[in-house]
Amino acid sequence: MNSPGTDRRWRRALVTGGAGFLGSHLCERLLDEGTEVDCADNLLSGSRSNVEHLEDRAGFRFIACDLVRAHSVEVLDGRYDLVLHLACPASPADYLAYPLETLDAGSAGTRHALQIAERDGARFLLTSTSEVYGDPLMHPQREDYWGNVNPVGPRSVYDESKRFSEALSTAFARRLGTNAGIVRLFNTYGPRMRADDGRVVPTFIRQALNGEPLTVAGDGTQTRSLCYVEDTLDGMLKVAASRSVRPVNIGGGDEATVLEIARKVIELTGSQSETRFVERPVDDPERRRPDTTLAHELLGWQPQVPWLEGLRRTIDYFRDTSPQPVSAPAV
Ligand code: UDP
Repeated sequence: MNSPGTDRRWRRALVTGGAGFLGSHLCERLLDEGTEVDCADNLLSGSRSNVEHLEDRAGFRFIACDLVRAHSVEVLDGRYDLVLHLACPASPADYLAYPLETLDAGSAGTRHALQIAERDGARFLLTSTSEVYGDPLMHPQREDYWGNVNPVGPRSVYDESKRFSEALSTAFARRLGTNAGIVRLFNTYGPRMRADDGRVVPTFIRQALNGEPLTVAGDGTQTRSLCYVEDTLDGMLKVAASRSVRPVNIGGGDEATVLEIARKVIELTGSQSETRFVERPVDDPERRRPDTTLAHELLGWQPQVPWLEGLRRTIDYFRDTSPQPVSAPAV
């Protein structure tokens, strides 16, 4: 089993994008482990409600702050020993709606987060993505694969933003000796995703619970490897606790087609929904599965939660928080 948390304790952490889905889980986990947490967010795609339950806890501060602005370096003055940098729209629907903000987040935003870490002598962890591999020609994807990204396609605002962030992070490490690591996350899902964030898991669950058709893009044969949020947190915190400056893949091993994901959500929700085939997004990657040998060998990490179990837990969350119960089948 992975340890529930890190292999070391941090005194005070900065979590940029801390009011997002993943960021809010990280804030909570760090607080549980006795770390003080500054949660910085501009609330573009994150939500204050994700961290409402943490606001009264000792050592927690929410700081409304746009990391893209140079001023943020002064505002975020916690003398951190850990900077977890997540601030960036992460769902395709969000980054397509905010293309310039996404590019700014990966350039100026990442630079400022790195400056904070450098100033404080903190360990820095960049949350990068499987999207740096684009529509990969190597399968499964290993960290030494350079990727297949269309630099002028609609997804490039995210892919190139994250690739630039990786370059910045590496340059800080090389030039200034910043203790900067990189994780590449693959399709993390779980409680606290926004029902309307557009990604496949929350969309299918919402549709199934509402008795609406599940919108399968293309013929649904494209694949993704889902990783439950708890596993992602374990992986991220293990990379943070190491001194690795190499990118490390963190993702699930259960590769499934989008159509299989849709059918499984229908089965697990007990919904009468059907599937409806809709247009496939431009440059939508065809196959995606991480090679996680490096995380396993370096850190002893591997995902623990099978996707059916993770889906069950996520469905329970959506049932508990949704104002609407599973409705009658759409006919
Ligand atoms: N997808 C889908 N229906 C939806 C949302 C997404 O079929 O309502 C597909 C999408 O085209 C992609 C896969 O599910 O092939 C994963 O999409 P997501 O937006 O979750 O993340 P991505 O892996 O593309 O970043």
